[in-house]
Amino acid sequence: MDDCIFCQIGSGKIPAEVVYQDETVMAFKDIHPKAPVHVLVIPKKHIASAADITKADLPIAAHILEVANIVAEKEGIPGAYKLVINTGPSAGQVVMHLHMHLLGGKRITAVV
Ligand code: AMP
Ligand code: ZN
Repeated sequence: MDDCIFCQIGSGKIPAEVVYQDETVMAFKDIHPKAPVHVLVIPKKHIASAADITKADLPIAAHILEVANIVAEKEGIPGAYKLVINTGPSAGQVVMHLHMHLLGGKRITAVV
C-alpha cells in the first residue's frame, strides 16, 4: 500500500527509530510517546486493523505478541508493559495499518 505510512516504515522507505525487525514484523518508537517506553509493533504486511486479521494471518498476530516480549527486554522492562490495539476510528485508531502499542517504564493507568 503506497499511501500507507506504516507500510512505508515497514519497508524502510520512511525512517523510524527501529527497535526490532525480522521478515514479518517491525517494532519502532512512537513519534509522540505517552510513556517512557512507547513502541509500536506492526506486521510488515498491510493489515488494516485487528478486525481484518484472517486465519492465515494468525501466525503473524501471535508473532507480534512474541515480539512485544523481545522489545520489552530490549527496552529494560521485561514482563512489565501494557499492550493496546485501537481498532477502528471510533476506538481511536488513527493509522489504518494494524499496530500494537507497547507502553511501560512507569505505572500506566491511561489508555492511548
Ligand atoms: P492509533 O491512534 O492507535 O492509530 O496510533 C497511531 C500512533 O502512531 C500514534 O501514537 C502516533 O503517535 C504514531 N505515529 C504516527 N506516525 C508515526 C511515525 N511516522 N512514526 C512513529 N509513530 C507514528
Ligand atoms: Zn499499511
